[in-house]
Amino acid sequence: MTLRERQNFDILIRGGTLIDGTKRPRCDLDVGIAGDKVVFIGDASHLSANQVIDASGKIVAPGFIDSHSHDDAALLLDPAMMPKITQGVTSVVTGNCGISTAPLARKAERPMPLSLIASRESHEAANFSYFGDYLAALERSPASVNVIPMVGHTTLRVSTMDELDREASPKEVHAMQALLLESMDAGAIGLSTGTYYPPAAAATTEEIVRVCKPLAEKGGIYVTHMRDEADRCVESIEETLQIGRLLGVPVVISHHKLARGQNFGKSLVTLPMIDAAMKCQCVALDCYPYNASSTMLHQDESRLQGRVLIASSGSHPELVGLELSKIATSWGVSLEEASKRLQPASAIYFSMDESDVQRILAYEHTMIGSDGLPTNDKPHPRLWGTFPRVLGRYSRELKLFSLETAVWKMTGLTAKTFGIQRRGTVTVGNYADLVVFDSATVSDRATYEDPAQPSAGIETVVVNGEVTFAGHGHTGQRAGRVLRRQSA
Ligand code: ZN
Repeated sequence: MTLRERQNFDILIRGGTLIDGTKRPRCDLDVGIAGDKVVFIGDASHLSANQVIDASGKIVAPGFIDSHSHDDAALLLDPAMMPKITQGVTSVVTGNCGISTAPLARKAERPMPLSLIASRESHEAANFSYFGDYLAALERSPASVNVIPMVGHTTLRVSTMDELDREASPKEVHAMQALLLESMDAGAIGLSTGTYYPPAAAATTEEIVRVCKPLAEKGGIYVTHMRDEADRCVESIEETLQIGRLLGVPVVISHHKLARGQNFGKSLVTLPMIDAAMKCQCVALDCYPYNASSTMLHQDESRLQGRVLIASSGSHPELVGLELSKIATSWGVSLEEASKRLQPASAIYFSMDESDVQRILAYEHTMIGSDGLPTNDKPHPRLWGTFPRVLGRYSRELKLFSLETAVWKMTGLTAKTFGIQRRGTVTVGNYADLVVFDSATVSDRATYEDPAQPSAGIETVVVNGEVTFAGHGHTGQRAGRVLRRQSA
């Protein structure tokens, strides 16, 4: 027998407690990996491996799937993906809130919110007219995590329309359909809209349904940052459900929230509404574990209420981290005028009720998504902290749900919703995307003041059978893959 033959596995994760991503109760089991797959789950005390990872006293779980990322360009520009890999994230869904880095015509201007995913300069390095070219670039230069790519409706509008403040003409709808179809053939799993934002606000329900026809034909998913998450949230949910029914496709309500004081508590209305709809159509939702949101710095007074922190500013980078109201006072101008002077800019808005956040997080069908914005100088802490915060603060400390449920909300449920094959659960034959963490200490350390902080308690992260993060450091592995739509 040769030395090689005596090794049963490439990697053996020994002595840990497995939470397998199905909500099943934890169990003490060893996990054996060969190549990029899990090949053994059980008692491996008599077996050996080239590399043994001691997981005694630790939890072994499927790598987390970030159901809502804006990492489209970051995957290429910063492929180590430290904000995500340090949280145990092994896959990210991109192209959310209507914005994707492809397919984006080169001539096209890039109005906000497109620059939330890449600055003007970095867009040059991550700008693709064809979706297939974007995916090919990701495969030539892989990132540390897998990519589940979507197309943004706002990106399609910017690429095909001269004026964005109106509904698309039949010709423009046709052009957008063609781009979506081409992108889906290249591997996109679906389309997202961001009708909340100016470049897509004039799109009617009818425009969206027409543009999205290829989703119905090819089996794609419809994901949306809805038109309104404040006073008209209920109407926006109705629109989303209607779009899903008209197309006959699954819908995902992104980062479900109820913004502004007068809407606090309305999750008592919206969640039963979603629950009722689930009986007749495919509906999913995600949420991040914070009561502040983050996006472009708005320029109308009605969207600037409450505490607003500047997260990035092209014209006044020295003011990042300060409150908008203080900046306006020091300049002796209105909030609106101050926000105009800070452009291009993004901000953090303290606009939600913690009870709604907890109710939505705890709702059985809610997935965990970070909505992290990787381009901001002082990003919302959700970019670095989302997943450990759910495990530490919301599961261990506040006991909102069991650890098994928390893990399921970031793995098995997400894989099922997005149709990701052989990932999201730890099963023999599945890809070896795994995280080892300490359930007693796992927690987020990113704060609003100091957001670029790796989390505590994440010990080892394996992506496609490659140890990518170990002992608080990146190993240099970039084993991420493009997870294309599985054609029916
Ligand atoms: Zn959004």
